[in-house]
Amino acid sequence: MNEEKYYTFGWHGISFGIPENWELARETGNRKEGSVRLDGIYAPRFEVAWKKPDKHYNLKAVFGRYRNDVEKSARRKGQDPGEIEILGGFTESLPGRETCVFRWGSGDPVYECVSFCRECYRLVFMRYMPQDDADPAPRAKRIFSSLRDHSENGDELWSFLGLHFYMPGNFSLENAVLNSGFIRMDFSDRKETVSVIMISLAQELLEERDLTDIMRFYLKKDLKHFRNMDFKEESMHGHAGVIGRPVKREGRLRRILFPEKGCIRVFGWLCKQNNKIFIAKAFSLSEQGLDEAASMHAHIRCHSCS
Ligand SMILES: [Zn+2]
Ligand SMILES: [Zn+2]
Repeated sequence: MNEEKYYTFGWHGISFGIPENWELARETGNRKEGSVRLDGIYAPRFEVAWKKPDKHYNLKAVFGRYRNDVEKSARRKGQDPGEIEILGGFTESLPGRETCVFRWGSGDPVYECVSFCRECYRLVFMRYMPQDDADPAPRAKRIFSSLRDHSENGDELWSFLGLHFYMPGNFSLENAVLNSGFIRMDFSDRKETVSVIMISLAQELLEERDLTDIMRFYLKKDLKHFRNMDFKEESMHGHAGVIGRPVKREGRLRRILFPEKGCIRVFGWLCKQNNKIFIAKAFSLSEQGLDEAASMHAHIRCHSCS
């Protein structure tokens, strides 16, 4: 039997391993409180929600409330919640956490995991919905026990819809555009902003215009105050790429009359293996901050991700 391939999904500092044909279908909220739904080819398969617990946190009480919600919502949907069966031995590999795993429903039972991490003080709720899966229990165990809800070194994995990169945890997601064929994620730590863009059907796009034109087009707003950009070809991630920097303005008077509003650097390359164009933009109010922000383009893994 072929072993099912898994990849690590990552969102807002939460990551876990899932089968490779499950993909992000819906997302809400922010780092503090939010949820994502991952769909298989035909149906929703997995849901994750996270939040900070109340002041007087108690896992037993949280679990009790959650269990009631599960029962109520099942009945609302006309499902029979059946017996709720608490399962042990699912999440021993999650140190520093209190967890509760249970299963409910008749037919294909739904697997749920409630986890509280003492270190990052996060409550995470995971729900796996089997669909005639051959071995749902080992799969639930594999996914639940792979949960990571905070990063050990400060860099957090964002990994979804074929885009994989690390971002320092102090950068928060300000805006996300998740269209089929076009993804843009904007992060900020107040002084610096970093944007990551992934565009599909790259070869087809490049038949009509070159990489620099494509970057200018997708970064139109970002480059509004930097009309005079210099784009140089440079190898990026083993691919042909381009780095864009503003042309230094000559003359003191010109600089006083037309002051620059911060510093910017943009990167773009074509990943032939995936037929995708990747663009990264770093913006900072200071040159020093820009170098740091600009180094983040190196954390995008355009191919060979596992
Ligand atoms: Zn944690
Ligand atoms: Zn690549």
